[in-house]
Amino acid sequence: MKELADRVANTQSSGIRKVFDLAAKLKDPVNLSIGQPHFDVPQPVKEAAITAIRAGKNAYTPTQGAADLRQAVAKKLGGAYRDNQLLITSAVSGGLTLAYMSLLNPGDEILIPDPYFVMYKQLANIFAARPIFYDTFPKWKIDPEQIDRLVTPRTKAIVVGTPANPTGAVYTREELSALAKVLEKHNIIAISDEIYEYFCYDSPFVSLREIAPDHTLVLGGFSKSHSMTGWRVGYAAGPADLIQAMTKFQQLSFVCAPAPFQCAAATAVDVDMTEAVADYRRKRDMLCSGLAAAGYEFEKPGGAFYVFPKVPWGTDDEFVAKCIEDNLLVIPGNCFSERNTHFRVVYAAPDEVIVRGLSILTALAQKK
Ligand code: PLP
Repeated sequence: MKELADRVANTQSSGIRKVFDLAAKLKDPVNLSIGQPHFDVPQPVKEAAITAIRAGKNAYTPTQGAADLRQAVAKKLGGAYRDNQLLITSAVSGGLTLAYMSLLNPGDEILIPDPYFVMYKQLANIFAARPIFYDTFPKWKIDPEQIDRLVTPRTKAIVVGTPANPTGAVYTREELSALAKVLEKHNIIAISDEIYEYFCYDSPFVSLREIAPDHTLVLGGFSKSHSMTGWRVGYAAGPADLIQAMTKFQQLSFVCAPAPFQCAAATAVDVDMTEAVADYRRKRDMLCSGLAAAGYEFEKPGGAFYVFPKVPWGTDDEFVAKCIEDNLLVIPGNCFSERNTHFRVVYAAPDEVIVRGLSILTALAQKK
């Protein structure tokens, strides 16, 4: 075999894996590192998947997605999208991959928040595009003037996540409206990652699509809201030419999202998740009170299920190494950032695990 493609060396695999490798050596770790809900898939959604499999819905669906799920998603999005503006994807990861593939030529620039979800940066590397970071430290706010300054003739798109991973930041209508003005001025599209849409605790979720629909590609899904991370179903909604390009590439790559789980997702759209969300709000408050009492510096998150505090001493790798030595799994901030000053704690976990995690973090706040 000859050498592998340059993109292999140019792309870093997720640093989170290093923590999971270390975790494998621990007997009974206190695990606050996993970015998925700890509750199970709601029963009616499970039943819908089983019924679909039994009914023989196991073959390819149309590339664009099963008609009933497309209709359910169109309804969920308020009827604002025509059918040629919608695509069912292999979860949000699939949607992100197809969006980058459709938008970016080698050398093009894409604006990415720092801190970021890992794929935002590495997909740019895969497609030989340039990730340009917009800084949201320390309060995780988007500064439209900074975005305006960072735009060049090569800028094609900006990624915006609300609620965000790893910070839990939720953007208001005013903040998104200010951003929309910059998008309109420079005619760039926002990839709006709405995977945590359900997990908004202090204010209702606002999407950029409500403000600047012609400049927004919505990527949403069911992985987090209905705990279907292994089922790989999501959707993309946006300008028809972009959706058609993504559909062409889906045909030549993923082909379609898993058929029985598309049926399950059509059921999931109507399943009420209020109770699960209220429980995560309570867990957020519990973790934040404990962190504050221990003296950690952090911005209280309005959504998702993460807190991103500053490390109390040392670098993030040094601090997380000590956490792991003390049996606690959290993720160093450099997995999500160009900086090494913070760490990510997940509260999608049973209360007793959060309590155990807090007692380890409390002890470590002072100790070097
Ligand atoms: N976007 C963000 C911000 C995430 O945190 C994740 C998963 O952790 C994804 C997208 C990927 O989600 P999916 O399982 O739908 O591919």
